[in-house]
Amino acid sequence: MTTAFDGPPLGIDTRSAVLDQYTVDETGRAGQRPCGVAYPANVDEVAAMVRWARATRTPLISRGAGTSLEGHLLAQGNELIIDLSQANSILDISPTDFTATVQPGVTRTQLNAATAESGLQFTVDPGADASLGGMAATNASGTTTVRYGGMRANVLALQVVQADGTVVRLGRAVRKSSSGYDLKDLIIGSAGTLGIITELTVRLHPIPEWLRSLRVSFPTVTAAVDAALEMLGAALPVSRLELVDAPGMIALNTFRGADYAETPALFIDIESSSEPAATAEEQEIQRIVRAHDAIDIAAARTHTERHALWADRHNLFFALKSRHPGSRFLVTDTAVPYSQLAAAVDTATRLGDELGLAISVAGHVGDGNVHTIIPFSDLNYAVVQQFSDRLVRHALAVGGTATGEHGIGLTKKKYLREEHGAAVDLMIAIKRTLDPLGLFNPGKVLDP
Ligand SMILES: Cc1cc2nc3c(=O)[nH]c(=O)nc-3n(C[C@H](O)[C@H](O)[C@H](O)COP(=O)(O)OP(=O)(O)OC[C@H]3O[C@@H](n4cnc5c(N)ncnc54)[C@H](O)[C@@H]3O)c2cc1C
Repeated sequence: MTTAFDGPPLGIDTRSAVLDQYTVDETGRAGQRPCGVAYPANVDEVAAMVRWARATRTPLISRGAGTSLEGHLLAQGNELIIDLSQANSILDISPTDFTATVQPGVTRTQLNAATAESGLQFTVDPGADASLGGMAATNASGTTTVRYGGMRANVLALQVVQADGTVVRLGRAVRKSSSGYDLKDLIIGSAGTLGIITELTVRLHPIPEWLRSLRVSFPTVTAAVDAALEMLGAALPVSRLELVDAPGMIALNTFRGADYAETPALFIDIESSSEPAATAEEQEIQRIVRAHDAIDIAAARTHTERHALWADRHNLFFALKSRHPGSRFLVTDTAVPYSQLAAAVDTATRLGDELGLAISVAGHVGDGNVHTIIPFSDLNYAVVQQFSDRLVRHALAVGGTATGEHGIGLTKKKYLREEHGAAVDLMIAIKRTLDPLGLFNPGKVLDP
C-alpha cells in the first residue's frame, strides 16, 4: 500500500517493512530509517519531487541499484529516498555515433543486452549489476578501465535536476569539447550531493573479435606486479589486468574444485585486431611473464575457455565468503602510482599479518588499484577499521588516493582534507552554491 503525504506530487511509501530495507547497505552497515521512499519514473517526476522537497525542507537520497560500498545511501535522519530503479528505459542506441542514451535506473547488463545486437558494448564493469546513474554518481570503474577508462571517460552528457527543481543538460554527445567549464565531470563522482541525474548519454565500443585470456601464477606479488607494468609499458592491447594473491587463489581452489598454483596470479585479457596479431601479442605476454619467473601459464583462446578463466576471477568474492562463513566483509580500494603498487600490496599483507586479519589482496593492477578483502565480525570490527585506516594513510603518503573507485560516501570523509588540502574549501563552496539548503544526500562526501 502506498500512502500520500499532504502535498507531495508522487505517492510516498512509508510502510515500516519497506523502510527497513533501506536502513542497511550492501556491506551490512546500518543507518537510520528514511522517512519514505518515492519511485519517480521520469525527469518531470524527479523535478516535481525536488521542488516539493525544497518547499518542505525534506532532504533527499537518490538511489540506483543500491550496490555502493561506503555508506553512500545510509539515512542519518529524516531523508526521503528517491529510488530511481523505475526510471529504467533505454531511450536511444546509435550504432553510427557509438552512443546510447538511457534513464538513470538502467543497469549495465540491461544496456549491454540491448547493444549486443549492434556489435557494441558499454565497457564500464564494476562487477555488481549497478545502475548507470549510480555508476556516474560514484565515478565507477572496474576490470576494463585499463583500456577503456571509467565513467568520466565514458559519459558524454548528462541531464540533471538541480536543487531548485530546474533541469540542466551538461556536456554534449560528441567525442570531445573544449566548451566552458566541465560541469558534467563535476556531477560525475558527486554521489548525489549536487544534483539528481535523470538521463545519461554514454559511449559504446565495438565488441572485439580477437580476444585472448591468460592466467599466470608467479612466485611473489612483486614479480606479478612487475610483469603487469612491463605489459603496459610494451603498449600491448591489454583490456583486463587483475591480480589475485595467494590466499585468494587458495580460496578459489576450494570453491571451484581447482588445482591452481597457490601463489599470486594475474588474470589478463588482450584485445587484438586480427588472429595473427592476437597470436603475436599473446607470445609477447608469455615472454614477459616468463622473464618475471612465471610458475604456470594457462592460455584461453575459445569463448568457453575464456569464460571459465574469468569465472574464477569473478567468483573470488564468493570463494572468500564461503571460506569465512558468517563473516561480513570490508573491501578497501586505495589506488597508488604504479611505482608504489608492489609496495602497497606488501604493506597490506604485512598489516594484515600484524593485526591478525585473514585478508586477501586483489585488484585492478592495471589501474594501480589495490583491493583488500577482509572478513570480520562485530568482535574485530575495530581492528578492521584500524587496518583500513593505516592502508589509506599509506596510500596518501605515497601520493595515492583513499578511494580509486568506491567513493568517499559517508565512511571516508575523514581523509578528504588530507588528500586534497585547501581544495576541500572549493568543494564546500561548490556544494553551497549548487545545493544551498543542503538537501541532496546530506552528510556524504563533505560535512555540512
Ligand atoms: C561485489 C561488488 C563489487 C564491486 N566492485 C566495484 C568495482 O570494481 N568498481 C567500482 O567502481 N565499484 C564497485 N562496487 C561498488 C558499486 O557497484 C559502485 O559504487 C556502483 O557504481 C554503484 O551503483 P549503484 O547503482 O548501485 O548506486 P547506489 O549504490 O544506488 O548509489 C551510489 C551513490 O550514487 C548516488 N546516486 C544513485 N543514483 C543517482 C542518480 N540518478 N543521480 C544522482 N546520484 C545518484 C547515490 O545517492 C549514492 O551516493 C562493487 C560493489 C559490489 C557489491
